[in-house]
Amino acid sequence: MNLNTPIKDISKITAQVAPKFNKLGLRTINDLLFYFPFRYEDYSNLIKIQDIQPGILLTIKVKIELLESRRSFHKKMLLVEAVVADETGKIKVIWFNQRYIQRTMVAGDEVYLSGKAILTDLGLEFHNPTFEKVNKYDKFTAHTARIVPIYSTTEKLTQRQIRFAMKRALVAVPQILDWLPQDIMNTSKLTRLQQAIYQIHFPLNNQELEKAKFRLKFNEIFLLQARNNLIKQELLHLQAEKIIFKEKETREFVNNLPFKLTESQKKSAWKIIKDLGKSKPMNRLLEGDVGSGKTIAAAIAILNVLLNKKQVAYMAPTEILASQQFLALNNIFKKYNFNIALLTRSVVKKNILIKKINTGEVDLVIGTHALIQDKVNFKDLDFVIIDEQHRFGIAQRKELQNKARQQKDKKDFSPHFLSMTATPIPRSLALTVYGDLDLSVIDEMPKNRKKIITKIIEPHERKDAYNFINSEIQKGRQIFVVCPLIDPSDKLGAKAVKDVFEKLDKKVFKDIKIEILHGKIKSEKKEKIMREFLENKIKILVSTSVIEVGIDIPNATVMMIESAERFGLAQLHQLRGRVGRSEHQSYCFLFTESDSENTFKRMQALAQSVNGFELAEKDLEFRGPGEVYGIKQSGFYDSLKIAKLTDWPVIQAVQIEIEKIFKSDANLNNHAEIKEKIKDFEKNVHFE
Ligand code: ADP
Ligand code: MG
Repeated sequence: MNLNTPIKDISKITAQVAPKFNKLGLRTINDLLFYFPFRYEDYSNLIKIQDIQPGILLTIKVKIELLESRRSFHKKMLLVEAVVADETGKIKVIWFNQRYIQRTMVAGDEVYLSGKAILTDLGLEFHNPTFEKVNKYDKFTAHTARIVPIYSTTEKLTQRQIRFAMKRALVAVPQILDWLPQDIMNTSKLTRLQQAIYQIHFPLNNQELEKAKFRLKFNEIFLLQARNNLIKQELLHLQAEKIIFKEKETREFVNNLPFKLTESQKKSAWKIIKDLGKSKPMNRLLEGDVGSGKTIAAAIAILNVLLNKKQVAYMAPTEILASQQFLALNNIFKKYNFNIALLTRSVVKKNILIKKINTGEVDLVIGTHALIQDKVNFKDLDFVIIDEQHRFGIAQRKELQNKARQQKDKKDFSPHFLSMTATPIPRSLALTVYGDLDLSVIDEMPKNRKKIITKIIEPHERKDAYNFINSEIQKGRQIFVVCPLIDPSDKLGAKAVKDVFEKLDKKVFKDIKIEILHGKIKSEKKEKIMREFLENKIKILVSTSVIEVGIDIPNATVMMIESAERFGLAQLHQLRGRVGRSEHQSYCFLFTESDSENTFKRMQALAQSVNGFELAEKDLEFRGPGEVYGIKQSGFYDSLKIAKLTDWPVIQAVQIEIEKIFKSDANLNNHAEIKEKIKDFEKNVHFE
């Protein structure tokens, strides 16, 4: 048996069971060994019957004196009852509805039983203990009398079956190659990989288990960061077009804005302009809370590139956002003679437009994924902006890079890249998640903003809320209403846009212009609705969370969220960020269908904080990094099986080693095994 042996070839794994492993994505012994438990049950407390105390997790080694089954009183349940004994006493054992017990054990057998005893009227009893026969020739227990691994599984595959297979697979552990250099192992005091794999499944004790976890987490974080560093190194060898800073024109542009830039915006814009002036491609992430004004910072950069007579591509994740940013940039550059175009899947006369992009007639093209379709080639693409970058993967970045390369016929060319995100990833996390990018943060809001007032609305206050909305509309303001579903669904009990729209349109706000918006609406229609909403022709927009990212309607002052419990905390914050984008006082009304404690806590957290970073920290605390907005989407989360992005000690240890290794071997040319591993690791990263 070796690491590549299929699980089905493990002896005693039947033809029925093997496919169930495949369902978990496990095909080979190697897959199995790297399938880690998600928790453990500590059955290592091996004691005598006379020492049993109720409620304490323990294991006893006993002989079965009596074993029989009967139907329960109402015949509903099968009871297998046993009396077991060791040299210190006897205890009664009952298994409920576990038919196979009788097939596995008979009176006279010697077994381990693990679990908690309970005190009944008849004395101490063991109910449903985990059992394992004592084997004279094989002292290695897998299910009892040790710290026992618990794996996540589909219902059809039992813990016993997984442990059984795992125990057999251990034979192949010595074949696992340890790819970390010895000096790293020494300085960071890491357990050998073989040892770690062994201990992660069947730990000798908690101390060994912790050491194993540390080593395996180290592996993952190390690969993640090594990969980031490699990408950074690769970029150093690429060439980009130097964009000359047009100081006078930039000053003029900024002076003509209807507002004063914040210090943060100035700083970020300046960093970007400095990057653009280099012959190395920029690879910068601009992070700023919703409404902090990232677009204008990007626009300053766009201005400079366009004045250098180069092309710019601006990629947004949704058609709605693309068409909105198209309108916004048109407005921002209305005094200039730039040729600006919108390219989405469904624009009319697409082929003509693509030709214009390819001949360079279009200076700035804003679009969705449609930008990377085959026919689009560009003429002189030197600057790419990726808005809401957590919605994209590296693949899309590479596509655009390739297009620019082909068009220039230069193998080592890359456009400058600016990614933007409102994902409030704490800086500490950002280093691990986005380590390949330089980071700029806009950490202040424009001065004119008032704090958004967030309220949880009780069912009996709904009417008041409608009245309030009405008064806002009379003042000239506009309203968002967001629901989790498009169509009503009986099962979920959450509000649907179609229902809510009907009700508001026909009953509550009869004389007011209301529109409905969701992902299934044709994009021309979407664009029209967005434009009319922007022009204040539509007063209330009832929509799904398609408006979650990036939508900018400064005149809107109320965000009303139906079935708010359906959304994550950070997502709610994003939705709320659609209002409060001007000097007008804005409001967020939260309606929920649930009165659970948890919902209430989350809604309250939202009501108490308007700071995305703070809320992200809270999500991180409550629910772990997988739930932090944007991290799951970024795809890395999937590739981490055991490490968490909050494992600071591991992250720190890795950091030190990474620095050392890259100092002496910047492209890892002398570390082929690590490069190989990075490739494997990338295979596990799934982008949407
Ligand atoms: P986001 O960072 O969420 O992408 P936007 O770039 O869409 O935010 O900006 C939100 C709104 O704030 C826009 O209407 C924009 O015109 C406005 N804005 C941007 N910067 C400032 C500023 N310094 N002062 C006032 N308003 C600003
Ligand atoms: Mg934006």
